[in-house]
Amino acid sequence: MHRVVIVGGGVGGMVSAHELRRRLPADDQVVVIEQSSVHTFWPSLLWITGGTRKADQVTRRFSDLREKGIQVVHARVDAIDPEARTVRAGGQTFSGDAVILSPGADLDPSLVPGLAAEAGDLYTVKGAESVHSRLAALTKGRVVVLVSRVPFKCPAAPYEAAMLIDGYLRQKHRRDAVQVEIWAAEPMPMGVAGPGVSEAVAAAVRDRGIAYHPSETVEKVNDGKLYMKGGQEVPYDLLAYVSPHVAPPVVVAAGLAPAGGWVQVNRETLETSFPNVFAIGDVTGIGLLLGKPLPKAGTFAHRQAEAVAETVARRLTGRGGDQKFYGVGECFVEMGRSVAGFARGNFYHEPLPDVHVYKAGKHWHAAKVAFERHWWSQWW
Ligand SMILES: Cc1cc2nc3c(=O)[nH]c(=O)nc-3n(C[C@H](O)[C@H](O)[C@H](O)COP(=O)(O)OP(=O)(O)OC[C@H]3O[C@@H](n4cnc5c(N)ncnc54)[C@H](O)[C@@H]3O)c2cc1C
Repeated sequence: MHRVVIVGGGVGGMVSAHELRRRLPADDQVVVIEQSSVHTFWPSLLWITGGTRKADQVTRRFSDLREKGIQVVHARVDAIDPEARTVRAGGQTFSGDAVILSPGADLDPSLVPGLAAEAGDLYTVKGAESVHSRLAALTKGRVVVLVSRVPFKCPAAPYEAAMLIDGYLRQKHRRDAVQVEIWAAEPMPMGVAGPGVSEAVAAAVRDRGIAYHPSETVEKVNDGKLYMKGGQEVPYDLLAYVSPHVAPPVVVAAGLAPAGGWVQVNRETLETSFPNVFAIGDVTGIGLLLGKPLPKAGTFAHRQAEAVAETVARRLTGRGGDQKFYGVGECFVEMGRSVAGFARGNFYHEPLPDVHVYKAGKHWHAAKVAFERHWWSQWW
């Protein structure tokens, strides 16, 4: 009998658990340790901001999972020993023949003085609800979408949020009275994907009359104003922000990531320097030749989970192939009013990622809605 212990029941955790369950004999155990009682489908969160989804439409309870051969332990992991392949959670110690770490990135607004006191964190369900309810009441003024630090997950998301806010205001005939702006601590949108993608997103933002201020880093937030490093003061009536991201402290304490950094892995097998301990998804830092890291995105967490599940199953059973992660991923870009763009490419292509941008249209929005439906129906 074997046991695989998976830390985190997000995108990487759920995909690897189901892929392993399919591949391992019935008496092998697949254990997922997750601190939350619900799984959230993060791409739909942007639709809460835009007003077309409610919180209960973007979450499902782990207790309602159809596959009962996956043991979900509802507890917070507070220690990992990668040498012994043990994980401590809820006062219990779980040891695995293999351990897969997929705890994502933690959001830490406290790294920007004053930010944590603001309600509009675009990357939490509560924050997205707060942004939408205040947007619904806003008749005039200034909405500021803030990217506080890099790296952050889903590089398209803040730009999508701004365009969804724009679309909502247009639908309500209030756009002329409300300015929408993006202030971002990065020189261009989705820079790793290359100039084609960056320019397509920047043009979509520009075409909607959204003012874009790149390479602007916020120093503090106080009394309805952003104070930027360059000295500018940016007043707002509604702030929708992306918090600084950090690796969960438990992986740093385990010696798997340096302080202020991310877990280092073999970029194709996702194995850490400890045999049979793998890390996937947002918790990893995978450097690319162009000098920037692989973006933190569900599309990569998903494919990495499939590859790791195949590797682990082969090592435990002696059967199966040799699947690796080759850096391929894709992304919808929501633009408001049921229109979306789409890009797909190979991010391990050298010297630069090779990414193709498809023409935006209603069909890409429909494809994202279909993907959301598929995400839920496959497991719940
Ligand atoms: C608004 C938004 C929109 C997005 N849209 C897209 C998109 O369109 N396309 C795309 O590809 N990506 C998108 N993403 C990014 C995508 O959601 C993430 O990249 C993906 O979820 C990463 O998967 P993961 O498994 O690494 O982490 P997560 O999915 O974040 O899962 C981590 C899990 O680990 C749990 N956890 C953390 N620490 C512990 C602990 N100590 N003990 C127990 N459990 C723990 C967490 O509760 C969480 O459930 C979006 C993200 C956001 C926020």
